[in-house]
Amino acid sequence: MLTVEEALDAILSRVSALGTERVDVVGAWGRVLAEPVVSRREIPPWPNSSMDGYAVRAEDTGRGAALAVVGRVEAGGLPARAIGRGEAMRIFTGAPLPEGADTVVPQEDVDTGAGRIALRGALERAAFVRPRGEDVRVGDRVLEPGTVLTAAEIGLLATLGFGQVRVYRRPRVAILSTGNELADLGTEPGLGQIPNTNTYTLMAQVLEAGADPVSLGVASDRLEAIEERVRAARDADVLVSSAGVSVGELDLVRDALTNAGAELHLWRVSMRPGKPITFGSLAGRAVFGLPGNPVSAMVTFELFVRPALLKLAGRRRLTRPRMRVRALAPVSNPGSRRGYLRVQLEPIEQGLGARLTGEQGSAILRSMVAADGLAVVPPDTVVPSGGDLEVIVLRELP
Ligand code: AMP
Ligand code: MG
Repeated sequence: MLTVEEALDAILSRVSALGTERVDVVGAWGRVLAEPVVSRREIPPWPNSSMDGYAVRAEDTGRGAALAVVGRVEAGGLPARAIGRGEAMRIFTGAPLPEGADTVVPQEDVDTGAGRIALRGALERAAFVRPRGEDVRVGDRVLEPGTVLTAAEIGLLATLGFGQVRVYRRPRVAILSTGNELADLGTEPGLGQIPNTNTYTLMAQVLEAGADPVSLGVASDRLEAIEERVRAARDADVLVSSAGVSVGELDLVRDALTNAGAELHLWRVSMRPGKPITFGSLAGRAVFGLPGNPVSAMVTFELFVRPALLKLAGRRRLTRPRMRVRALAPVSNPGSRRGYLRVQLEPIEQGLGARLTGEQGSAILRSMVAADGLAVVPPDTVVPSGGDLEVIVLRELP
């Protein structure tokens, strides 16, 4: 049996980032940058005022100093002339400083008279001035490949004049559910049937990982039926199927994948929940066969498929955040496999506390609905109330 880490290494060593494309910056949210971004602009391009007030020379300031106001400059305008000794210029936030000025006096700190201002004290040189290039210098490497583009990065790209940006392609992920017992959404399950859950959880997990899901529907437990769907997934980058990967007579997914030309690895991974998982390559694409129980499918997706999708999408960081939290009730993981147990998190006096979301059966989807994270618990372990738990965080923290 492999450890989770060994199985994950084996998967990640066989996938690498997809190709790239150029997209408009406006639509680039959530995409992964595929090139370094180097500035060809100086931001701000010239020293400018951070306040409405008066541009002055610091050496002219002091208590009672009187200065002649020799002009006015607004944001979007240019100063008509330089200022000299004993002079000031009316200035507004964002306007360029006139030559000769090195400091701004906020308007609330002066007494105004006809064409003159009187200061109430001295100012330090450069007070209320935003120097040229204080944010970005020409040639600065401001973003690295692998960066996920969020609002701040998109604003920076726009500031630097980049209307388009090169990003990695989003992985296309085909989702296949298998099983004679499955009634798909839109049909009422008949006798002996159960509703298809996995297509929908897995498609949503694909979206959560920043990739594009495509459903291949449900295939019955017949070799040819599964094989036909596998072939239909030809233009996807990844195929994820669920169920039919154990060793029963009706567990045909592996044979179907092999018949379709896949080279497969089947692993028993030492974890709970989760049975064997299948991973392999089919014409250069990754294929996963996940277990059928809805919670097992979700948890194995989290641990194995999600990091692979992130790597395909060009991300550098492939894992969810992990935290150490306090057990608010005993958490036990009997048996010889490492547990990934569903927990709810809540704020406590110091940090966060966790408790199990209820029964941990691998068919109990509601335990997943309530889960903020997965507590990683070693085999044969009881963590007492108050003890330390390591949690993989799946949701926004409470
Ligand atoms: P299997 O690996 O085919 O033996 O499936 C294990 C369990 O998961 C069985 O109880 C199946 O009925 C159930 N199962 C398989 N596929 C799905 C699905 N798409 N949605 C919900 N339950 C499923
Ligand atoms: Mg089955």
